[in-house]
Amino acid sequence: MNIASILKEKSRDVVYVAPTMRVTEITGVLARHDIGAVLVLDSMLQVMGIVSERDIARCLAARGEATLGMTAAQIMTSDVVMATPATTIEEALEMMSQGRFRHLPVVDGHELCGLVSIGDVVKWRISQQALEVDSLRAYVQRAD
Ligand code: AMP
Repeated sequence: MNIASILKEKSRDVVYVAPTMRVTEITGVLARHDIGAVLVLDSMLQVMGIVSERDIARCLAARGEATLGMTAAQIMTSDVVMATPATTIEEALEMMSQGRFRHLPVVDGHELCGLVSIGDVVKWRISQQALEVDSLRAYVQRAD
């Protein structure tokens, strides 16, 4: 099973911001969409970085109120680890646990085709396990 199976189940829309957006506005975007991270894309829609609530918390702890006036480009993580639709679910979990992050953008060639969170992966795994339990129950009942 791969990331493409998860993307099929969720919207491919990815919430993103421009590198010039200020932290005050970014917090509004995160709150409005009820999400924990946004991608930072350039004008060609190429990934420049990612800003998560953790980046904002870290910056607030280090720089205080000045954080609010800083831009996405100033606080983002620019070395973004990405998956492709063919990345397996196990590989994606390994990437997230190794890198200690919860968001994985998915790119197909140069095209951004989604963003998978640890929550999406856990939800998907639980539903797969429920399906397996159902089919094993049906199998055992047939054998009775
Ligand atoms: P998260 O757990 O995803 O909220 O993010 C924790 C930290 O990892 C933050 O500094 C993020 O900017 C960074 N981060 C989140 N996702 C990725 C990713 N796919 N690749 C690299 N860093 C990331």
